[in-house]
Amino acid sequence: AAACAGIAVLFVAIGIWLSWRPESEANDEFIAAISNGEFIPFYQPVMDIESLRLRGCEVLMRWRRPNGTIVSPGQFMAYAENNGHIFDMTRHMMRVSCEEVGELYGENPDFKLSINLFAGHFQDREVVADIKSIFENSNISFQQIVVEVTERHPLEDMEQARKIMAELQALGVRIALDDVGTGHGGMAYLQKLGVDIIKIDKMFIDTISSDDNSTTIVDSMVELADNLGMGIIAEGVEQEEQIERLLELGVTAAQGYYFAKPMPANEFIEFAARTEEE
Ligand code: C2E
Ligand code: CA
Ligand code: CA
Ligand code: CA
Repeated sequence: AAACAGIAVLFVAIGIWLSWRPESEANDEFIAAISNGEFIPFYQPVMDIESLRLRGCEVLMRWRRPNGTIVSPGQFMAYAENNGHIFDMTRHMMRVSCEEVGELYGENPDFKLSINLFAGHFQDREVVADIKSIFENSNISFQQIVVEVTERHPLEDMEQARKIMAELQALGVRIALDDVGTGHGGMAYLQKLGVDIIKIDKMFIDTISSDDNSTTIVDSMVELADNLGMGIIAEGVEQEEQIERLLELGVTAAQGYYFAKPMPANEFIEFAARTEEE
């Protein structure tokens, strides 16, 4: 019986070793990619759709593999968030943004830089210290920073999230609620968090020129934003007709493939030079 138990333990141990090993190797690779600086910012222009001038950009993370392949966040973001790697990755991305577009932002004090944070960032004050230390000595001022919090993932401790957002706002950073209307928060987030900007999800923009319900929803978001004194940005704009509808509804800021896809820094700087010239 003792021998049987011994063999059983051995099999269980091998099973655990086998199932654990590949994952830990994948994790080692991921950590190596982080320290090699493979996670980099791309920049998607945010436009003023009345004047067609550039208002700034949203920073979107990409994984640039050593072979040059560009991997989108859909492939790695959940892993990075679940393993807590996202904290290092976000810090690195903010530092690189300062290096890459700091000069452009120094020359254009009205430009805004939107950074995506995940729910976990709002449970830990470390993010306030990170933003302070990274941007304090850069050419990007706190007033130029917008921090995006998505409604897709629940914020566990609303009180704590509210405190962290208030600390950021005290610095001059603005808070945007992302993916509004698609997630958990709904009206409660708007009421409790004191956000400055709401971002209308692509889902509503997709059908805005064809579907009356979408139009009505966007219309009420605009009214809500106006009444609460918040700014509004439409995302995922791909067609001219959508811009026309948005203007009719009183939305003045938008981003989407219609204007530009997320792009590396050098292209974004060229894009800025082109739009500011016209
Ligand atoms: P999001 O914050 O809602 O970002 C908007 C997404 O829509 C981006 O996808 C962008 O490339 C895409 N998009 C913009 N305009 C259009 C359009 O006209 N048509 C279409 N089809 N798509 C458009 P991306 O870059 O793949 O990012 C996906 C999500 O990953 C983001 O959604 C965000 O939730 C997350 N993410 C990206 N970067 C970061 C980051 O640095 N930190 C965190 N925590 N999350 C990030
Ligand atoms: Ca976003
Ligand atoms: Ca969004
Ligand atoms: Ca979205």
